[in-house]
Amino acid sequence: MHSSMIGKIAKAKQYAQEPERIQFMQFAATFRGENDSHTTSFADGKWHCDCNFFGDWGTCCHTMAIERILGVMIPAESRQGEPLRMSTAY
Ligand SMILES: [Zn+2]
Repeated sequence: MHSSMIGKIAKAKQYAQEPERIQFMQFAATFRGENDSHTTSFADGKWHCDCNFFGDWGTCCHTMAIERILGVMIPAESRQGEPLRMSTAY
């Protein structure tokens, strides 16, 4: 294999260990919930989900689950966190 490609692969492996280098700007995903599938998205620093709970609360288990998976790759100012009272109440 070409030596410059070998270098890029090595760099990719290193970068993959440093997810804080990556900040998602936008994405949309199909989220298969227990009952229905939902479309959950992130754009312009804001979350959106088409489930009823999100409509009332501005957050939901789908956006929170994706945030847990993506972690530091969600810009800090857009992370919803999980208020203690909410995570124990639901
Ligand atoms: Zn939702």
